Amino acid sequence: MTAPSHSYAPRTVIITGGSRGLGAGFVQAYLDNGDRVATCARSITPEVEKWQSDPETADRILFMPFDLSSREDVDTFVKATVEKWGGIDILINNAGVARDGVIGLTSDEDIDIVVDLNIKGTLYITRIVSRRMLAAGKGNILNISSIVGRSGYRGLAVYSATKAALDGMTRALARELGSRGIRVNGIAPGYLRTEMSHGLDEGQMQQIVRRTPAGRLGEPADVARAALFLTDPANDYITGHVLVIDGGLTG
Ligand code: NAP
Repeated sequence: MTAPSHSYAPRTVIITGGSRGLGAGFVQAYLDNGDRVATCARSITPEVEKWQSDPETADRILFMPFDLSSREDVDTFVKATVEKWGGIDILINNAGVARDGVIGLTSDEDIDIVVDLNIKGTLYITRIVSRRMLAAGKGNILNISSIVGRSGYRGLAVYSATKAALDGMTRALARELGSRGIRVNGIAPGYLRTEMSHGLDEGQMQQIVRRTPAGRLGEPADVARAALFLTDPANDYITGHVLVIDGGLTG
């Protein structure tokens, strides 16, 4: 899709974990909207290389490979974004990881991996970006949680705990930052067709589809459209809200 005409003032958007899956859906949607996107993941993918080489998007994409659980690297990434484009309008906390397993058999390492990225990594980058947004007196933060943070899912206790924590963070930050011109919302997606859901077996997938009124799994584009809506400056009365996008599964 071609970017909108020159009258549009592009926004600078940080999207964590934009190399594939839902994150790549967000990157594509904001690039299509004419915005500038800084994104990160531990490794580069063909999607990122395509944005970097396409003349339509090459000067509107910044990619840095690093692990979001590392505070120093998060700092460097945010500084590089500000140096390149002067500020940050939108932060989408998308990167997340899941590890399946019943709680009694979950290793220390798996608990650490999920908590370090989903909660601590999200808090580190939000802390740094919020300082920039406070100085600018405006901004939008969007946290990607999950319906399992509300409804739970057998074998996903650690992951569900981290996603419920993100919804708490969304509500707390909306109160803390609202009077300073910063909106904070969340999206709790249902089951999406991405690499993360490959851990579900065929039987689980079919059961989810059978129970979903929309009759299918979600696509990244279903969620990306809602992100554009929630971060649209025209919708500045929406804050502290977590929007469930699950085809009616938990409705
Ligand atoms: P995905 O396909 O596994 O993609 C995850 C992204 O995060 C990748 O870009 C990955 O790149 C990056 N990432 C993972 N660990 C990282 C780390 N330590 N540091 C930096 N980047 C890291 O997952 P997805 O399905 O798109 O999920 C995106 C978000 O939606 C997650 O927060 C997930 O919890 C949430 N969600 C997903 C579903 C679903 O059904 N898929 C449902 C509800 C909510 P690297 O691996 O190269 O680092």
